[in-house]
Amino acid sequence: MERTYSVETYGCQMNVHDSERIAGLLDEAGYIPVAEGSQADLVVFNTCAVRENADNKLYGNLSFLAPIKKLNPGMQIAVGGCLAQKDQSIILKKAPYVDVVFGTHNVGSLPALLERARIEEEAQIEIKEALEHFPSALPARRLSAFSAWVSISVGCNNTCTFCIVPTLRGIEKDRSEEDILREIRTLVAQGVIEITLLGQNVNAYGVDFADRQAFAKLLRKCGDIEGLERVRFMSPHPRDFTDDVIEAMAETHNVMPHLHMPLQSGSDRVLQNMRRSYRSDRYLKILENVRGAIPHASITTDIIVGFPGETEEDFQATLDLCTEAQFAAAYTYQYSIRPGTPAASMPDQIAASVVGERYTRLHEHQQLISLEVNKGAIGKEMRVLVGEYEGRRDARESRLTGKSEDFRLVHFADSSNARAGDFVDVRITDASAHYLIGEELQTIATRGGDAHELRTSEKKTSGVSLGIPTVRA
Ligand code: SF4
Repeated sequence: MERTYSVETYGCQMNVHDSERIAGLLDEAGYIPVAEGSQADLVVFNTCAVRENADNKLYGNLSFLAPIKKLNPGMQIAVGGCLAQKDQSIILKKAPYVDVVFGTHNVGSLPALLERARIEEEAQIEIKEALEHFPSALPARRLSAFSAWVSISVGCNNTCTFCIVPTLRGIEKDRSEEDILREIRTLVAQGVIEITLLGQNVNAYGVDFADRQAFAKLLRKCGDIEGLERVRFMSPHPRDFTDDVIEAMAETHNVMPHLHMPLQSGSDRVLQNMRRSYRSDRYLKILENVRGAIPHASITTDIIVGFPGETEEDFQATLDLCTEAQFAAAYTYQYSIRPGTPAASMPDQIAASVVGERYTRLHEHQQLISLEVNKGAIGKEMRVLVGEYEGRRDARESRLTGKSEDFRLVHFADSSNARAGDFVDVRITDASAHYLIGEELQTIATRGGDAHELRTSEKKTSGVSLGIPTVRA
């Protein structure tokens, strides 16, 4: 009998994409995705070590599964991802009923490890310290029929003091341009019309083969791929953000007018302590150049509040920079100690109550800015790619949701039965801090919509649950 599986994903887009590969490998090994609401024979947790509470969440979910596994002796549990890479045998000490612990560098070994655990009736731990094969060479069960992530690099050569990624994912390894473009062309042939190039520090791409302009060249080459409608990327690092990338963004027809560039702090003193090698004026200068070349570009960012030693004055510098930068959205995080990072042992850790209070102030401050930025879109026409997961918000009202070219969430009344994966031109009629409301002008059926329809008619569940979409940089 076929064994069913589910994959639970925590953390960033890299992990979500790794989960697509885990699902692809399990499909290939003969497993099938579990039907919604049923208990899978195999549960895989793809974990995160960056976010606070990721470990609590994992161990909570593992204890929930313990009695279920006792009643189903054939059931298996596997734990992979960054937390597995970091904690290794600790996981088995805390949850001895786990069957397999695998690291970020050996996702491809999972089916063999599960098999070995079953035959030998013993838990298997396999953590590799370095990448064996570039993960994109592995099969994938993609979550969307028309929108795909494409890894261009893994690892990171930076040493931001709050970040565990370099320790867990290793130094940057770049995939060859030829390999990346081949994957994109294959995806486009399958109906994909939007890709997001992924890397911890996407615009450092090329460091591995000593070509500082490699990322800009890659963007331009994406522009030559017929049928590829939208190209996005995340996350760039301000240090490596060079003018040739801005020129490539402006001059390549399918590279979208949106830049998500982590700021982390508006205070130069804090940036220095974070070992972020740019300063606030450099960051603002990049925004000025991007807006000069692409006037309709929207800018979003990540900010950490309450880094060790952050004073009220430092925090005020972050608020001021947000005002000046006019971000369309900021993903804000409360600093919390991540064991194994240099910042964990820094003096002057900020009290949680102060961090929480600053976080609320920043959130409220940014809400007002986002609202103003979004109100500026009222009356404009935008082309929206109807989303697969956002889907139909409300069957009664028949509202659809999608993303504009500049990455804003747009809700609109569906008057022509557009499908997920189709483009809809809308006129924006209203705005909130988080989304825009539009009225439909015309629907443009696309190959993306066809691919989605085909996928939907397969009536298969994905077996993969999504995490929170961000990538460190
Ligand atoms: S925050 Fe980003 S750039 Fe800094 S070390 Fe982590 S992954 Fe690298």
